[in-house]
Amino acid sequence: MSERQAIPTRRRGPRLKHIPLRTCVVCREKDAKRSFVRIVRTPEGELAIDPTGKRNGRGAYLCRRFSCWQAAAEGNALDRALRTTVPPEFRAELLRYADLHFRRDEEESERRALPKTDTA
Ligand SMILES: [Zn+2]
Repeated sequence: MSERQAIPTRRRGPRLKHIPLRTCVVCREKDAKRSFVRIVRTPEGELAIDPTGKRNGRGAYLCRRFSCWQAAAEGNALDRALRTTVPPEFRAELLRYADLHFRRDEEESERRALPKTDTA
């Protein structure tokens, strides 16, 4: 009995560390938790951007791509993930946050940089 207790359990298991992986609700990319930003629906039903990941409630994660935030703001990925209806105010907040924290995708800026086709 005591012999068995002395054996260290799984000192060399195949998985050394358990890193919690998160999935972006838009692009479905998986990565470690800290490279994602959590969106939370609080028990009161309020939606909030939760960069610390510590708020109570049901969470969904977005990666740090501007396009994913834009898609989340314009589409229904968050509605589905959080089982709620994302109000327009929060959609605007998502875009504002993305504007502040992430660079717009190059593709996007290229499109914007295209010369205007003014018919002179
Ligand atoms: Zn993403």
